[in-house]
Parts: sequence; structure tokens; C-alpha cells
Amino acid sequence: MLISRFAPSPTGLLHLGHAYSAFLTQNLVENNSGSLLLRIEDIDKTRCTSDFEKQIYRDLKWLGIHWNDTPIRQSDRLSCYSYYLKKLAKKGLTYGCDCTRSDIKRALSAPNTPRKNSNTTVYPGTCREKNLSLDNQNIRLNIVKSIAYLKKNTLNFCEEGTGPNGESGTQVVSLDSLAKNYGDFIIARRDINTSYHLSVTVDDACQKITHVSRGNDLFYITPMHILLQKLLDFNTPKYVHHPLITDGHGHKLSKSKGSESILNFRESGKDLETIKSMLVCNSN
Ligand code: GLU
Repeated sequence: MLISRFAPSPTGLLHLGHAYSAFLTQNLVENNSGSLLLRIEDIDKTRCTSDFEKQIYRDLKWLGIHWNDTPIRQSDRLSCYSYYLKKLAKKGLTYGCDCTRSDIKRALSAPNTPRKNSNTTVYPGTCREKNLSLDNQNIRLNIVKSIAYLKKNTLNFCEEGTGPNGESGTQVVSLDSLAKNYGDFIIARRDINTSYHLSVTVDDACQKITHVSRGNDLFYITPMHILLQKLLDFNTPKYVHHPLITDGHGHKLSKSKGSESILNFRESGKDLETIKSMLVCNSN
């Protein structure tokens, strides 16, 4: 059975981009007699609030999104992430890192930043040989050791949607380019002992997700998730990346830039059909 998920972070009010993603995921599931799961991605306690979480349920209900089972909340699952983190550590694939705060911020705060062709700095490996304790440190994945562990040159995943540059079908990721583009990325942040990358990979496996449906701003970080799946002996789901909803200037909608929320639209009297027609006009 096809199982997909909608995985919002309660860091603000849902906007049209979330509505679009939720509708597409629901369509995918309905067209395949599948199941839609809801996951609240709230590991970043500095940005997530329970009020935003409550509003997510209200907005999704108003949008007519129906999910199966009880939603899971990542903040309830920290011990599960810690279990898998220890597995990676036992394989000798991780190391503690005490580098600066700005390194840490960059690695964790921007899961939505396409890396390909960007000037994002790759961690230079300063702490790789320091043998720092894994307790109370940021923990990085040693990418060279991970590649050696897998004994492969490439990883594959199946793209059933499209990436930002029209990528579709089987995607072959060279492990050398993965090492070059991502370096030793943080898989557990000192304060919460997990990261977006680790949590999303573990949850997709634990929820038995067969199709990951999400915005194509996450397409270029997918190789990091495929790598973690292989290292943890998880199945690789299919990916269905979709285009993003943009504003009148072609910019991606974002909570932090104050894009108009579903709640505002609703309170100003817009009905569901109007919202749906706005999505058709703004999809890119
Ligand atoms: N929580 C992420 C977001 O709200 C989605 C992550 C994902 O779908 O993998 O952007």
C-alpha cells in the first residue's frame, strides 16, 4: 500500500505553499488507495510552539485534509533518534565537534536550502581527528568513513515528481560528489541530540513511508537522507517532489517572510474554492 506523509513544522502559520503540498499529497494517496500520515516536525524548540501546532490541525481540517492514525510529534521521539544515532556511532561513522555556533546554525536551520551550485561552505573537518566525546557535543557524520563502509561509488533513488531543474526518474548520486557537496554534516545537534536529517530519515522508515511527497526545495538534500537510510539499513522510499507556490514576484512563500497565512485568508472570508484557485494560479 502507498503510504505518504505531510510533515509541517510548527514554526509559524501554514501558508498557501503548505496547502498546496498537503493537497498534492492527499491526491497522491487517494489516487492510489493509500494512507496519509501526519508528522509534526518540532525538534527545534527555539522556533516551534504548541499554539502553531494546534493551528496546523485546525487549518488542515478546514482545508479538508484527512490523515490516518494519530499524528506523531518528533519531540516525543528523541529516544528513538538517539537509538539510531548510537548505531551510527557503533559503526565508527560519527564524531563529536565543538566548532562555532555559526557552523551549527548553518547546518541545521536550513533544510530547505538547495545546495547544488550554491556557495554553501562545506565543513572543513576540523574536529574529525580530535576524538572528542560524543556527549554534549554536536555530532557529525564522517562522510569518508561512511562511503568506505558502504563499499559503493553511487546511490540511487527514484524521483516520481520533479526536481527544481526538471530531474525525474532514477537519480544516481555519486558518493564522491556527496562528500564534496555536503561534507561531514551534523546529524545531532548538541542541544537536542538529533537533527532534521536524522529525524526525517528515521521517521520515514518507522512510519513505513513508501512515497515522500514534499516541495522541491528539499530535492538537493535528498542524497543525505538516502545515505543515512543505507547506513541504517532502511528501505529507500520513492520521492515525489513538487513545484513550489510563489508570490507575485516569483519568490517562494515563507513563514519568516510573513507570507499570508491560511488563517488570514479564512478570517478575511475566503472560501476553500478560492484558495484552490489561487494555488492553480501560483504554482510554478
Ligand atoms: N518539516 C519540513 C518543512 O516544514 C518538511 C520536511 C520534509 O517533508 O521532509 O519544511
